Amino acid sequence: MKEIILIKLGEIVLKGLNRRNFEDSLMSNLKRRLAKIGEFHVQIAQSTISVTPVHDDTDMDEVEDCVSKVFGIAAFARACVTEKDLDKIKQAAGEYLADTFDTPKTFKVEAKRSDKKFPYKSPEICDEVGGYLLERFPDISVDVHEPDVTVTVEIRDLGAYIRAGLIRGAGGIPVGTGGKACVLISGGIDSPVASYMMAKRGLELTAVHFASPPYTSIRAEEKVVELLERVAKYSGRIKMFTVPFTEIQEQIREKCKEDYFTIIMRRFMMEIAEEVARRNGCHALITGESLGQVASQTLKAIECTDNACDMPVFRPLIGMDKEEIISISRKIDTFEVSIQPYEDCCTVFTPKHPKTKPVLAEVLREQNKLDCRELVERAVEGVKLTTID
Ligand code: ATP
Ligand code: MG
Repeated sequence: MKEIILIKLGEIVLKGLNRRNFEDSLMSNLKRRLAKIGEFHVQIAQSTISVTPVHDDTDMDEVEDCVSKVFGIAAFARACVTEKDLDKIKQAAGEYLADTFDTPKTFKVEAKRSDKKFPYKSPEICDEVGGYLLERFPDISVDVHEPDVTVTVEIRDLGAYIRAGLIRGAGGIPVGTGGKACVLISGGIDSPVASYMMAKRGLELTAVHFASPPYTSIRAEEKVVELLERVAKYSGRIKMFTVPFTEIQEQIREKCKEDYFTIIMRRFMMEIAEEVARRNGCHALITGESLGQVASQTLKAIECTDNACDMPVFRPLIGMDKEEIISISRKIDTFEVSIQPYEDCCTVFTPKHPKTKPVLAEVLREQNKLDCRELVERAVEGVKLTTID
């Protein structure tokens, strides 16, 4: 029996004139993601996308997992396809739902007849298929108000589809329809979650990671790649730029007052990220900051770091508690990687008493002891590109 996946569009159906654009993006994102698994026909008709595997041995669990992570999809379901013939539909429903109905359950049948040429009306389809299922599975019964299983028969232009229920999709809007932004990615818990959240709002991601060898190890960088690979299951391809940050950190340590170390370092990060972002067509930065979480994330500290760049900075976690952030990181499967213990450049040379209420004028006075322009330029010129797909 031929099994396919049916996809119901999310918010994008609300987008009026842009709808076409959104649908096109969703289709191409979906096709690109599916191409990694196998060969499929992906078609859209009447606000429903069907994903039909070309080969019978396709692993449908893998397809389902892939589809569940594509933004712009409100809901989806596995379904079986058959000809638009009532007897064939009944037969197919019986076979396809055998596993579902192997234990006693209540059910109802719904019919959606978008092909109006089909000779039976929706109530007739429900009666016929429902009656057949009752006969075939003696332990099930009908409950039209609160059924355990809702069997849906859709009569569409391309065929008849039978499915049991719908699964909630990833939601959001298709990646790329909102433009491109650059995430400052560390190996921590927060920035992968921030990446996921902004991709969900339609942004394509570029990433910048600051590395300070030999203080940070190659393994720390590999960890970031592993995190981005997991984020990319939702966001699609990510270009990651690794920035050599050792020289800047050493210079700050040498020439600036210790308690300003973190804030000055963070200003450099923003400035360098902005330059890399601009060169790569991005129009915003993304960070995993959450208000009050650490000394560098107080209001005063954020005021000082924000001032180092002109682009909008998105901080989707700003009002979230750590527990809430962790629950998303578990959901997107980054948590286990994030908690592996490798040094981040943020944790080398950390001052004993970082300023929690830095004053911008003082920060600038300290920072200006360095040849900032030249340091930034050298760092930007030294970036290394890794493409994550
Ligand atoms: P995370 O869990 O994302 O590491 P954090 O709670 O450890 O965040 P900080 O270390 O203060 O907080 O970092 C705040 C933000 O700065 C991070 O969310 C990330 O966006 C950015 N950042 C920190 N370290 C790096 C790095 N090595 N490379 C790129 N961005 C970084
Ligand atoms: Mg960190």
